Amino acid sequence: MPPFNKNSGKYAPTDHVSLDILIKDGLILPLSPDYPEYFKGSVGIRGDQITLIQRSDSPDLPPARKIIEARGRLVMPGLINGHTHGAMTLFRGLADDLPLQTWWEKHIFPAETRFVNPETVYWGTLLAGAEMLLSGTTTCADGYFFMEEGARAYAQAGMRALVCQGVLDFPIPGVAHPRDNISAAARFVDTWKGVSPLIETGIFCHSPYTCSSETLLKVKKICLEKGVPFFIHAAETRDEVFQVSSREGKTPVRYLQALGLLDRRTVIVHGVHVDAREMEALAETGTALVHCPESNMKLASGIAPIAEMAVKGIPVGLGTDGCASNNDLDLFGEMDTAAKLQKVHTGDPTALEARQVVQMVTSRGATVLGLAPWVGTLEIGKKADLILVDMTGPHWVPCYDPFSHLVYAARGTDVDSVIIDGKMVVEGRKITTFDLEEVLDRVKGFSRQIGAGRNLPDQ
Ligand SMILES: [Zn+2]
Repeated sequence: MPPFNKNSGKYAPTDHVSLDILIKDGLILPLSPDYPEYFKGSVGIRGDQITLIQRSDSPDLPPARKIIEARGRLVMPGLINGHTHGAMTLFRGLADDLPLQTWWEKHIFPAETRFVNPETVYWGTLLAGAEMLLSGTTTCADGYFFMEEGARAYAQAGMRALVCQGVLDFPIPGVAHPRDNISAAARFVDTWKGVSPLIETGIFCHSPYTCSSETLLKVKKICLEKGVPFFIHAAETRDEVFQVSSREGKTPVRYLQALGLLDRRTVIVHGVHVDAREMEALAETGTALVHCPESNMKLASGIAPIAEMAVKGIPVGLGTDGCASNNDLDLFGEMDTAAKLQKVHTGDPTALEARQVVQMVTSRGATVLGLAPWVGTLEIGKKADLILVDMTGPHWVPCYDPFSHLVYAARGTDVDSVIIDGKMVVEGRKITTFDLEEVLDRVKGFSRQIGAGRNLPDQ
């Protein structure tokens, strides 16, 4: 990657080969190691790559097939949602204000057993894709069931996704017998390998209390053989810590460490209840963590000590979790919550600064998912995954520091346009890749079955 030259205002000499898209005169936030600040300038795209980044006062912009006037827009890397269950949009608001075990065992899992099928996963995931795209998310890591359909939906949406088939030690939608869960996940990884430039795959073990040590070890072995990441919810609630400690004589993270599961290709989701020794284990092994503050708050799980984790060098990303426990997929809200929650947790208003939080959904988020060579920053040679954020609304004025506004003032609806892999997938707040109205109609149809007997409002 060529270094940014502050004198010329360019990353690389302009070569005058025409561009596919030129984004002109925006406020550019590259979030790259070479240029962590912001400047007024332009970004050029050819094919699926960023090929030009330069200041507005540098001359000689090459011609382009499409020119986007970005005055009043902030141009930054697309946001990365490190953890979600896309098709759980189907269950948004179905069961709120309940303890995690009751919420899951009495409401969500029974609803999943009845209503999750290839059709509902496809449309539910497309709805998740719509919500994420319209709020600036260009990449997500999704773990759920029937993930062939999840992957198909993200590919259709034009959204980059790390799609993971879920594994539990009991029957799940699409896999009748638990003995087949691991082979189904391995088959999914093989089926989608290299099929779409937008889709990467992985395997998601639900948790240390729903998967045996044998299952965890087998899945990790397959992940290593296939070169894909291993995800697991862990240390989410005190109840889980109690259950795993009683069964295994170790807390969840110590248990995973003892099994040899912690490494650079393992991603722990939640990590609310971890002590200093466990944080050291995560840091030493390079194990990444995805923080889901709104889900943890809603289920009263606790507060993950991510300010401390960041100091210890643990790669920490940010996730929304699924729509049944959040209940939206807007990373702007998640950033605001994450920053404020650390201040409450530590009693220190300097904990987790706005810049760090923006990194968690861009450059750091890419590292967490193993995608940093391709996405997460605006740099020449990287994939053209970027968003334009409208800075003209009243809540953006005045603006002394765009990082502050992104975390504490902006909202998902400020996202004006989204480019992924060099293609405009949202333009002027309209999705270009699929018919949103059709998706809304389909999911409303499913909701009439899922919520039968309830007083559903007309929409
Ligand atoms: Zn989750």
